[in-house]
Amino acid sequence: MGQQWDEEYDVVVVGSGAGALTGAHLAARAGRSVVVVEKTDRVGGMASYSGAALWLPGTQVQERAGVGDSTEAARTYLRAVLGPAEAAKQDAFVEAAPAVVAALEEDPAVEFAHQVFPDYFDRPGRIPGGRSIIPVDIAPAELGELLHLVRPPASRDRVGLDHSPEPLTRGRALIARLLLAFARTGRGVVHTGTCVDELVTDGDRVIGIAAERGGRRVRIGARQAVLLAAGGFEHDAGMRDEHGVAGEAAWSMAPDGTNTGEPLRAAMALGAATDLMHEAWWGTGLAMPDGTAGFIAGFAGGLVVDGRGHRYTNESLSYERLAREMAADPVRTPSYALFDHRTGGHLPAVVVPAGRPEEHLAAGTWTKADTLAELAESIGVAPEELTATVERYNRFAESGTDEDFGREADEYGRWFGEPVLVPVDRPPYYAAKLVLADLGTKGGLVIDVAGRVLRADGTAIPGLYAAGNTSASFTGAFYPGPGTPIATAMVFAALAVQDVLGAYR
Ligand SMILES: Cc1cc2nc3c(=O)[nH]c(=O)nc-3n(C[C@H](O)[C@H](O)[C@H](O)COP(=O)(O)OP(=O)(O)OC[C@H]3O[C@@H](n4cnc5c(N)ncnc54)[C@H](O)[C@@H]3O)c2cc1C
Repeated sequence: MGQQWDEEYDVVVVGSGAGALTGAHLAARAGRSVVVVEKTDRVGGMASYSGAALWLPGTQVQERAGVGDSTEAARTYLRAVLGPAEAAKQDAFVEAAPAVVAALEEDPAVEFAHQVFPDYFDRPGRIPGGRSIIPVDIAPAELGELLHLVRPPASRDRVGLDHSPEPLTRGRALIARLLLAFARTGRGVVHTGTCVDELVTDGDRVIGIAAERGGRRVRIGARQAVLLAAGGFEHDAGMRDEHGVAGEAAWSMAPDGTNTGEPLRAAMALGAATDLMHEAWWGTGLAMPDGTAGFIAGFAGGLVVDGRGHRYTNESLSYERLAREMAADPVRTPSYALFDHRTGGHLPAVVVPAGRPEEHLAAGTWTKADTLAELAESIGVAPEELTATVERYNRFAESGTDEDFGREADEYGRWFGEPVLVPVDRPPYYAAKLVLADLGTKGGLVIDVAGRVLRADGTAIPGLYAAGNTSASFTGAFYPGPGTPIATAMVFAALAVQDVLGAYR
């Protein structure tokens, strides 16, 4: 073979989100030498900005919390939401989730708790209060020097700040806990600032990677496997255009400098098949003055209208379902969230970009007017259309029944606060501009139930695995429940490692 490697490990993991670190930790724990290769100077990717809800059903965490969940109920729910497509992967996912959580919690660094957060669809198998779990917060001191490797929350990271002295929560807690567990194995190495853009082969087998690090090429050998868990291509405008991904690269929530798809393209160059390349985990974004978007979720009041001033859906759907409705018609981007003075000028949603109402008004992220007609004019909508829409909506609020979209009907919408239908009739009125954001593309490499990357003819590329947004999600055009993106990344990374450990092909 005569390969000249700069370094060589049993397993090379590309990317450092929660899927990557789950795979890295489980491989290292099983005695393999493992390197995590990360493009930016921090680990965690978009997972570190996330709420870290993890849709990992039927595990010991739900059992500890006394939640009546099971693998069978989760299977029923997934089938009801997704249909029979990808049934084998649905099954592989729900069947593996309990063991993945048990394996991770064997290390005292990793601890999860149940959270109440309803599943997104009213379908058989849904359980009251939902089944997602979250990582327990962790104090910065527990991480020692590793702390500065973990990407801080978006609000600090985007302005160049490190972590605050407060405990790491949510996505930061998840990444911190997995990183700590990985480091404690003593068999793990993390290389940051290393952009993988090539897969090295021997015959048809992947035996390593090549990457750019500080203006120089490095080659790292993989004695057993390369696991690509390097996010999607949401920040690559050209690739988005090529594959028809709606929205814009600038509106994606991925951290700056991440996720432009080099590992995906490297696998495609070897003949790997792809699927769902136009898809993403959509989200509603507040249009920011610098052209980016800020994540918004959980409307608890107000209404959303399109560019004609018309409502088009139940605003209390999950953010992904609402955004998918936005994507369905170009007249819906931008949309406008309308609200009134009863919230003191605050946009009535559970997750809103930071800033006092005056700051948003000054920045132009939302506008204010004394009448609905003036508000309509300020956003370029016909005043009579907007006024008629709001008056109709207010009648629904008064009666408690949304005759157009049934907004009051579902448990998910009610979870953010009741009543779900709150009138908009107290001036001044406000309109916030919404765009189609995303939490990552979800099309990518076709994998099998063991995470192996497949060619178009269905054969596996030996030595190559993928998970998370580098792979095509088995959930297709759906986002079944809180925590699906990260949970599926973690489980398929774990299945990949299981395949590597059990069957060295
Ligand atoms: C505000 C917000 C809240 C969210 N809440 C949730 C939630 O509660 N639950 C949930 O499941 N999902 C949530 N998401 C979505 C979720 O965070 C992402 O979809 C998921 O983390 C993607 O995982 P990934 O491993 O594929 O990519 P990432 O987590 O983005 O990790 C990819 C990593 O790979 C690195 N990389 C990319 N290219 C290369 C390369 N060429 N070489 C080396 N490294 C590379 C990147 O720099 C990055 O660090 C949320 C997202 C946001 C923004």
